[in-house]
Amino acid sequence: MLGVPGAGKGTQAELLTEALELPHVASGVLFREHLSKGTELGEQARVYVDRGDLVPDEVTIRMVAERLSRADCREGFLLDGFPRTVAQAEALDQTLTQMGTELNIVPLIKVSEETALVRLGGRWTCRKCGDVYHQLFNPPQVEGVCDECGGELYQRSDDTPETHRHRIEVYSEQTMPLIDYYRQAGLLVELDGEGSIEQVQVALRMVVEQACSA
Ligand SMILES: [Zn+2]
Repeated sequence: MLGVPGAGKGTQAELLTEALELPHVASGVLFREHLSKGTELGEQARVYVDRGDLVPDEVTIRMVAERLSRADCREGFLLDGFPRTVAQAEALDQTLTQMGTELNIVPLIKVSEETALVRLGGRWTCRKCGDVYHQLFNPPQVEGVCDECGGELYQRSDDTPETHRHRIEVYSEQTMPLIDYYRQAGLLVELDGEGSIEQVQVALRMVVEQACSA
């Protein structure tokens, strides 16, 4: 699944995998899992992370391949956050071929930069329990106060329109060749992500179910 930060990719992936009872393979989660468990791959990745370098594709691909080889992925899976580059996509294709499977569909959730910025902005986090609110989509009952524990809500210091715009730009530049790659492979399905969470989810489920039953 593809989509710029703020497109709602994570939320949609979560709802879709719950509905279809598929494992949600999010590369960020996988990465943290390997680091915290101190696996061999985690230790390899840590060397680069500690130096402030990007983890090489080879390590990332091995992490994903190992995850996809687990029993719960036999009936299918949803990849979120991987691949990010054409090189990773080619390596993924090879891995899937070795496993005797292939991708059915690559949904791309499209939103305007304005929408992405509005969604990324306005996030408030509780100092005490870490609950996250959004001033437009999920406001607390009392401004500045956590509904759950009464703690004080604050905005993260890196939560600025400049940082958000930068994240959107980096993602767009990086994934543009990837989008072409999957378009040429006939796998890309573009979805309008401007609607409500429910509207986007209905459209997404329809195209995914269609692609996976064919
Ligand atoms: Zn709280």
